[in-house]
Amino acid sequence: MDTAVIIVAAGRGSRMGGDVPKQWQMLAGKPVLAHTLAAFGGIPVVLVIHPDDRERAAGLGVPLVEGGATRDASVLAGLRVLEGTGVKRVLIHDGARPLVSKALIDRLVVALEAHEGAAPALAVSDALWRGEAGLVAGTVDRSGLYRAQTPQAFRLEAILAAHKAHPGGALDDVEVARAAGLDVAIVEGEESNLKLTWPGDFARAEAVLKGRDMDVRLGNGYDVHAFCEGDHVWLCGVQVPHGRGLLGHSDADVGMHALTDAIYGALAEGDIGRHFPPSDPRWKGAASHIFLSHAIGLAAARGYRLANCDVTLVCERPKIGPHAAEMQRELARIMGVDETRVSVKATTSERLGFTGREEGIAALATATLVRA
Ligand code: MG
Repeated sequence: MDTAVIIVAAGRGSRMGGDVPKQWQMLAGKPVLAHTLAAFGGIPVVLVIHPDDRERAAGLGVPLVEGGATRDASVLAGLRVLEGTGVKRVLIHDGARPLVSKALIDRLVVALEAHEGAAPALAVSDALWRGEAGLVAGTVDRSGLYRAQTPQAFRLEAILAAHKAHPGGALDDVEVARAAGLDVAIVEGEESNLKLTWPGDFARAEAVLKGRDMDVRLGNGYDVHAFCEGDHVWLCGVQVPHGRGLLGHSDADVGMHALTDAIYGALAEGDIGRHFPPSDPRWKGAASHIFLSHAIGLAAARGYRLANCDVTLVCERPKIGPHAAEMQRELARIMGVDETRVSVKATTSERLGFTGREEGIAALATATLVRA
């Protein structure tokens, strides 16, 4: 591996507030630095810490080095660890930027092929003012101005020599590099690569993480059962009086079967037959809520919840309208979701086909699962 990353996390960050420095505060359930480290997955890391944080950092499982009194000194401490290891390129990154993307890291590494340094930045798009005592005192031309981000990428030997020669007090490593005459390319940065500085930044970062992890799955299901002798049918968990029954291995609840298959479909988990083989006598005459509960449980186990579902029953009779609200309630109860997420409706097939001839009932269902 000829690329490594130095993550600078030795600062005490007074603007954020809180009992611990911002890079150790919790973001979406884990310390900010754990997110930052994960963003560089696969690239060897040197983590530069404050001596007081040694105990906290031990659990992160990466090589640690104690930083100095200034940012420059901390970076130089990290660079010295890499000296003579065969590493050729180094990315230098602020620990408080946990949302850097793999795509941005790749762009920097590519830019290093043609330049001694490369760093991400965003062109300033807002108007810029100079203010004095709460009043606008003038405007500043924004053309050619950029907002600098990290990671900043360099050829190791060049940036190490630049840091050794620098008198100190630089704002970032690009300033150190330029002082040594290195050329630094501007690479397109990312709005989401925010630096946690103010308390409100944590909420913004959590929103970005949530959006990244969101996964939406859609499934559909279709089922048919034939009429037989009987005096009621089970539809979407409701017993509906009717001059005929429905033939099936289980209770033949065609609507609930279609919905169950839609959920299995969204999970790419086959259908009811895979999980409850009709050849197994245990499921003879079974109440279909067993199947639906299993499917929704499988979804929950994988972190998905039902965003909505829609079931359409196709039959001339019995009339579904008077029972639809109760069916929605029953499906919602079984799945543990709000009734407003469950739709049950019906249509006839204008007396056409097997449903039109009242030989059986068909059902279609769609289910949306969301993991966030
Ligand atoms: Mg069925």
